[in-house]
Amino acid sequence: MISDNLRKVRQEIQNSCALVSRKVEEVTLVAVTKSVDSAKMKELYEEDQTVFAENRVDVLLQKQAELADYPAIEWHFIGHLQRRKVKDIINKIDYFHALESLKLAGEIQKRAQKAIRCFVEVNVSGEASKLGIRPEEVLSFIQSLASYDKIEVVGLMMMAPYDSTVEEQRSYFTQLKQLQEAVSVQKYSHAPCTELSMGMSNDYPVAIEVGATYVRVGSALFEDE
Ligand SMILES: *Cc1c(COP(=O)(O)O)cnc(C)c1O
Repeated sequence: MISDNLRKVRQEIQNSCALVSRKVEEVTLVAVTKSVDSAKMKELYEEDQTVFAENRVDVLLQKQAELADYPAIEWHFIGHLQRRKVKDIINKIDYFHALESLKLAGEIQKRAQKAIRCFVEVNVSGEASKLGIRPEEVLSFIQSLASYDKIEVVGLMMMAPYDSTVEEQRSYFTQLKQLQEAVSVQKYSHAPCTELSMGMSNDYPVAIEVGATYVRVGSALFEDE
């Protein structure tokens, strides 16, 4: 049952927070609903889970239409966003988790009607298959966004390699946390960078121990459905 899965994930979030004396309110559970239909999202909504993420433009738009009667939903876009699709989606989401190039930033600047809350995606592990800014370039990348008044850098985002050990996960998450702190101490008005979007079904407890403020959990909510 979805409600049982949700209860387990919420409990796990609480346990991880307790381990490191964090307040549970500091962590937002983002339900990644790319593998389920809007009926399942309604089930989550009934359990007060109102923060959802999708990684496909067409699917997100379709689900928004299907869930038009659920105005409290907060929509996050987490996937690679092609520049030509920015105009279709950028004014319909609450958070964008995958800002990974100046070209994409330029297109958002052109199409957004107000400042968009963005996470800069960082390729901490250096995998060739992953998008994201290289760690050593994050600060200069964010500095160069200062003139883009339609972009607010709320934080950094990453994905740990799927096959990494807990020790490796902890190391990657810690690197992102250190980068986030290095940006936030600069007090850039366009980049408060107080948030950390990290942790998925197989590693969110570790991510929370290191400081995640948004965990993006999909399969753990929908297994055995
Ligand atoms: C699919 C996805 C998730 C959720 O992954 P699960 O392993 O199903 O929890 C999180 N973040 C991104 C960017 C994703 O594409």
